[in-house]
Amino acid sequence: MNQQNLFGFADIPEWEQAALDDRLVADVVFNLPLEKPYAYLIPEPLRGMLRPGQRVRAPLGRSNREVVGYCVGVHSAGPSEVRLKPLLAVLDRDPLLDDRMLELTRWIGERYICGWGQVLETVIPAGVRKKSGTRLVPVCELVPGAIDRPDTRQLSRQQQLIVDLLREAGVPVATSELCEQAGCGPSPLAGLRKKGLIRMLRVRSEIDGLRAAGAADEPDLALNEQQQAALSGILTSLRSGSHSTLLLHGATGSGKTEVYIRAIREVVSYGRQAIVLVPEISLTPQTIRRFRSRFSSVAVLHSHMTDAERHWQWEQISQGGIQVVVGARSAVFAPTPHLGVIIIDEEHEPSFKQDTTPRDHAREVARFRCAQEKIPLILGSATPTLESWLRAQRGQDILLSMPDRVARRPLPPVVIVDTREDAQIRKGAAIGRALFQAITRALREQGQVILFLNLRGYSPTVWCRSCGTGVKCPNCDVTLTWHRDRAQVVCHSCEYATLPPDKCPACESPTIRFLGIGTQKLDEEVSGLFPAATVLRMDSDSMKKPGSHDEALEKFRRGEVQILLGTQMIAKGLDFPNVTLVGVIDADTMLRQPDMRAAERTFQLIAQVAGRTGRSERGGRVLVQTTCPQDPAVLFASKHDFVGFAQHELAERYDLQAPPFTCAARVIFRGPDERQVQDVAEAVADKLRSALATLKAAAPETEPLRVLGAAPAPVTRLRGLWRFHLQICGRTPELVRQLWLQVEKTLTLPENVEMAIDVDPVNAR
Ligand code: ADP
Ligand code: ZN
Ligand code: ZN
Repeated sequence: MNQQNLFGFADIPEWEQAALDDRLVADVVFNLPLEKPYAYLIPEPLRGMLRPGQRVRAPLGRSNREVVGYCVGVHSAGPSEVRLKPLLAVLDRDPLLDDRMLELTRWIGERYICGWGQVLETVIPAGVRKKSGTRLVPVCELVPGAIDRPDTRQLSRQQQLIVDLLREAGVPVATSELCEQAGCGPSPLAGLRKKGLIRMLRVRSEIDGLRAAGAADEPDLALNEQQQAALSGILTSLRSGSHSTLLLHGATGSGKTEVYIRAIREVVSYGRQAIVLVPEISLTPQTIRRFRSRFSSVAVLHSHMTDAERHWQWEQISQGGIQVVVGARSAVFAPTPHLGVIIIDEEHEPSFKQDTTPRDHAREVARFRCAQEKIPLILGSATPTLESWLRAQRGQDILLSMPDRVARRPLPPVVIVDTREDAQIRKGAAIGRALFQAITRALREQGQVILFLNLRGYSPTVWCRSCGTGVKCPNCDVTLTWHRDRAQVVCHSCEYATLPPDKCPACESPTIRFLGIGTQKLDEEVSGLFPAATVLRMDSDSMKKPGSHDEALEKFRRGEVQILLGTQMIAKGLDFPNVTLVGVIDADTMLRQPDMRAAERTFQLIAQVAGRTGRSERGGRVLVQTTCPQDPAVLFASKHDFVGFAQHELAERYDLQAPPFTCAARVIFRGPDERQVQDVAEAVADKLRSALATLKAAAPETEPLRVLGAAPAPVTRLRGLWRFHLQICGRTPELVRQLWLQVEKTLTLPENVEMAIDVDPVNAR
């Protein structure tokens, strides 16, 4: 965009005239979807103060509205720049980011087709922008020795939980974080303080009060041969002083974490820092403990930290006081002064992709950052994404394999159960004969059981028996789910909830039925079938309270629960030696998704849940109920054959010229008027096609690029808005971007229609 016609021309103040020869210009980006930075004159009083990475206030647009932006560059004015508008103010004393971070964020804007300023706005924590960390932070710590007194036995459940959390941390913990983790208010803390078990203090957030001192006490394990081989591959990379990506393909339970820890040891030994990214759901005390017990200063970045906490962590990290940063997606931006390695565990997890602008993927951001720093990136998974696998196959990345579990424990046998002929299931039950017998046996042998079903609620379909239509959410193109405990039907997309209708909205017959099985109904069925067992359900309904997730897993670990059932929440990372049976209630629910990655997700889920059993000498087995026993994803998963699956699935993707062989960008349009949204989407698709035709005419050998759609999105209506989408597919992100930018410049959207672009989409809704 051309700044002259946007801004008009500004008057040149007198003092500017005087200093005509050496005037300076600042490039500024705003939190807006703009392609290029805007240039402003830096007025004399601000000259010495401004460096890239600081925020400024500047007049924007014809109306000269005052907007906060980020300075991303300072240079002397060219001849065409003498009449630019001047900046109004500099807002930060020091830059919020260094040059490398600026370069990284610029790249993200380009790669994911959004404004540089939009990226900066999400990368810099709100607390850092607000400077909210200079206040005092209240913290709690255990009074040494007090905990062993006899009166500590009379603690309430929540008090005990707090004591456990503090003991686990081994250091003072911010009061707010404690309350959040324990899911309580301040009263249990007050009670503990009265008993003399804990004390509260206030620390200035700049001091080292919360740093984990002397926590590193557990010795390293002796690595087995496969771990040793993987580690030496990593060490070679680390010592080479250059960037490479290493894909650590290790079976579930092959001991990947131990390898990460050794790699981090090396990095820490020469005074550098490590960043470890894990899926949010795996940020459990168990994971955190593993790192805290091996390194003396570990920072943990959750997504639910307060602004002040995040700011405090950010400062600690940037001062170099932290050895290891463990966190979810956004920790990839942690301002480590001397980064030595980034590790992404469970790299196949879709949660590493951000689902709002800038919609970046932490893996690709990490790859860029590691290349900048000339350090290795390590990706670990038992079921890598096809994107990562293909790169390794092509030799772009280095493949490290650990096919066996530690101590040569076998992977559990996986039995596929065809439920089409099962009498119980035909009657509407969730548990078929074979699974019933397997559970009975596991319980008799004192084993624990995990049952996986990725549908929450009681019945996932509300349906009219007379006319056969499903009852949908009034705001979304989504069938409602019956939640019997709340006596409501609920939309899982927008959380709309209402009483179940007494007659059909379509034909008015009083024949509304609830169909299918969600986790709540499964809970009821299992409790009825195995009355002697304690059953625990884990899904986002039953785990609403902060801390309840960790608490539930702790109960399971202690053996107070025999059957754990739930959604995705229980599929990942859990390491419980006593689990001798895992049941997948319905593999079809994943296979049936209208998503290119349905097979990949099904394979991953079966392989990951299978990974939860057979982790001790007791062994374990897996039963997968399905009506598609011949489906390749199910068959390969039952043989633990990732390589075979990848080969098969990559061949299919190749035939379709779909990712990972191409780069895809999905453009989503939404608005309240169906017709209007459709027209806009189709018009944009037409423009893209004609731009493509021009490109091809000019250069017939143009790399293949395609435009698909526009078409209604799989969820055609969401939160009251109609949704249409189109897709651009090209060999590289650069080609896709060029085509898009060429068209985007010419677009003027009606006010009612929003547009979002998603590069490398992982969500097909
Ligand atoms: P993964 O992340 O690959 O699924 P983990 O790192 O969780 O596997 O390791 C599985 C279990 O094996 C853990 O309990 C871990 O402590 C143990 N383990 C890892 N390496 C070794 C080793 N070399 N010797 C003995 N036990 C090990
Ligand atoms: Zn009806
Ligand atoms: Zn809805």
